[in-house]
Amino acid sequence: METEFVHCFGIKKTILAGLSLEELRELLKPLPAFRAKQIFRWLTRGVRSFNDMTDISCTVREALEKRFSLYSSVISQRLSDSDGTVKIQLTLEDGGTIESVLLSDGKERKTACISTQVGCAMGCVFCKTGGVGFRRNVSAGEIIEQFLHLRSIAAFSNVVIMGMGEPLLNLSALREALDFIVGGNAIGVADESLSKRRITVSTSGIIAGIHDLADNGPYIRLAVSLTTADEAQREKLMPVTRTNPLPLLKKALMYYQRKTPKRITMEAALLRNINTSRKHADLLAEFAQGLDVVVNVIPWNPVAGLRLEGVPLQEPDKAESERFIAALQRRGMNVTTRFKKGRSVAGACGQLG
Ligand code: SF4
Repeated sequence: METEFVHCFGIKKTILAGLSLEELRELLKPLPAFRAKQIFRWLTRGVRSFNDMTDISCTVREALEKRFSLYSSVISQRLSDSDGTVKIQLTLEDGGTIESVLLSDGKERKTACISTQVGCAMGCVFCKTGGVGFRRNVSAGEIIEQFLHLRSIAAFSNVVIMGMGEPLLNLSALREALDFIVGGNAIGVADESLSKRRITVSTSGIIAGIHDLADNGPYIRLAVSLTTADEAQREKLMPVTRTNPLPLLKKALMYYQRKTPKRITMEAALLRNINTSRKHADLLAEFAQGLDVVVNVIPWNPVAGLRLEGVPLQEPDKAESERFIAALQRRGMNVTTRFKKGRSVAGACGQLG
């Protein structure tokens, strides 16, 4: 059977990453089923080449190489920060590029940060990707490949869909990829199971997408990049607000929480002298009333050249951030602060692209 396979060379190479075990079995016939299983296991561990599949004979590996490719994308750049962050740039089949990041908490826990679009149309003024503009949606296969490429670097236990792009504007591909990843395919994780509880999707506030997620799942953790609850100011910082106003966004979040009683994260990127006053803390606390939320405060990660109404954006100093956090806490809010990770490789929040 295997000899027959070896002589059966095709011309166009088929991509194996992202195929289910069943699909692999079919595709690899007449190879025996156990071969498909071996290859599938290697794939889910993020193997880099057929040559690394050491329990498969050289002859079969060579034949596989001639007919198939492991990935449609290649890692075109890899940068490491001394804090353990690794950022990879992937070049896709059409030449587009996206970035994915492996974050480390300095101990055991690693988190994969995944992109869902090449560029982004949302135009948030504090985000580098927003300045790049939108090229296209990433396919389900390309989302899965990001998991696999990161898995080739290290196992991870948590996933945040917070890389380049607005995930809820590419929900069907994201849904397909997540179905695959949590559906027993054991990608990425050390303990061979990646539960939905460990996946967070972050949106700029796409109301229709939140409803879609609430109605159709998957019921993963939801984060909203709120930044400020001052509607007029948010329109300037995040133009998405003009078509997705805050009162309707709040209703959508309440609907989501009725469907899936999971705590929602409200992210607030802090910008010096822009959204850090006592008034901003009060507005944010009022917006959160009636919702079960935790506020994730992220002192802005600098990106050169980004401005609001002609004035360069700046990160807040420590005292300014602390005053804002204290004001939230006085209003009874749960607050966490995101570590400044990956800055030296421009892999921190808002720096991709
Ligand atoms: S913050 Fe998110 S939604 Fe806004 S421009 Fe950046 S990638 Fe797009």
